[in-house]
This record gives sequence, C-alpha cells and structure tokens, in this order.
Amino acid sequence: MSDLRELYQEIILDHNKQPRNFGRLEDARRADGHNPLCGDQITVYLKMNGDIIEDARFEGAGCAISKASASMMTEAVKGHTVDEVEGLFEGFHRMVTSEPGMLPDVEKLGKLAAFSGVCEFPARVKCASLAWHTLRAAIEEAKTPVSTE
Ligand code: ZN
Repeated sequence: MSDLRELYQEIILDHNKQPRNFGRLEDARRADGHNPLCGDQITVYLKMNGDIIEDARFEGAGCAISKASASMMTEAVKGHTVDEVEGLFEGFHRMVTSEPGMLPDVEKLGKLAAFSGVCEFPARVKCASLAWHTLRAAIEEAKTPVSTE
C-alpha cells in the first residue's frame, strides 16, 4: 500500500511540475473556475467535434493538487464523448469523497486513481475536483465562472 501511495505521490508531483496540455486554445469553448478556499484559479479550453472532446487545455495557478488534477484531467478526457467524461467525473468524485479505507472501484479511472488519497483530506477535495467542475462548465458553455463555494 505504501508503495502505491508513493507512486501516486510521484505522479501528482510530476504533473504539478510539468503540467500536460498547459496553455490556451484559440476559438475554443472556455470556462473559468475558482476555489476560494485554497486560491486555486483555472481556465479550461475545449475543442469539441460534435459530442467528442478533441482537445483540452488549461491555464491557471494553484496548489499542486489542483494543477496536477487539471493536467491529468485534460489527458483523460481527450478523444472521449461528453457522456464518457461525465462517467469519469462521477467515478472521480465518488473516489475523492469516499470514506478513507472504503475506496470504491478505481480501476477504470486509470491514472486518476492517483488522487484516491485525497479522500483523507476533505479540505483538498475541492482542489482535486475544481478542474472537473470547470470542464463541465466549458462543455455547457456556461457564462458564469465556476466557484466551489
Ligand atoms: Zn488547492
């Protein structure tokens, strides 16, 4: 278990240091998200092709968890349909809000399972899920910024 924990930690630190898909997309859907509790700020950009997310990028500043989560989210959603992404978000949310030691099945979440330790730190749940809430707003082309409060 502790080996797994270390691996998860490494994945998060790596994505924080070298965020994937960082930067803006022109002529794309976008939404802003804010987590006032921690000060995390993020903008998500999406290129859609019908129901499929063709490209996803993000910009922003925040804690390691929020940045790594946004980085891994953009990797996880590319090439997937809105329905598939909604399913991923549900699984991710269930994982980070579960009782410690009562983890739901995280296998289909792939690398996103790196955030399973977040459930032990309720204050960080919003850091981990900010990118996902913002992604959802970008899909819906919401005009009002997302706030976790
Ligand atoms: Zn944060």
